[in-house]
Amino acid sequence: MLELLVPDEYVASVYDIDLEGLKRRGIDGLIIDIDNTLVRWGAKTADRRVVEWFARLEELGFRACLLSNNTKDRVVKFTEAVRIPAVYRAAKPGKRAFRKAMAAMGRNSSTTAVIGDQVFTDIYGGKRLGLYAVLVMPIDEKEFITTRLVRKLERVFLDRLVRQGKLKKPVVNRQA
Ligand SMILES: [Mg+2]
Repeated sequence: MLELLVPDEYVASVYDIDLEGLKRRGIDGLIIDIDNTLVRWGAKTADRRVVEWFARLEELGFRACLLSNNTKDRVVKFTEAVRIPAVYRAAKPGKRAFRKAMAAMGRNSSTTAVIGDQVFTDIYGGKRLGLYAVLVMPIDEKEFITTRLVRKLERVFLDRLVRQGKLKKPVVNRQA
């Protein structure tokens, strides 16, 4: 069970993901979390950098699907700018929504990666189905009260993995 919590990659932000590297692994489907992965928790829409990143994904031949535990309103509003399929109220780490997202992209577990900022929902949910899992550092500290508690546990876990040499800590080089 513990292996299912260990991300395959840990990067500072989605912009640090080696997209060509994913392609070389045979991955061309991306299931992507929204809150604190793409934008700050509570940010209503995608900013320009996010929109440009999605355009780049398309150029490279990726299919993408947003997967969020947040509400329909929040998720639908977000997709207005990026125009890609989305699954809301996903109940991650449950498997069902991940399967739904793969079906929406026409991809399977060997051609899909999950990208998210939370170990116990995004990473665990994806790895349960055998997906390649990319953990990003959360954009902001602001989030659901329940998430904040989980976050403490997550930090202890990630620090331990880094100490044990099972995970490389990302280099943070954030643009303003
Ligand atoms: Mg998130």
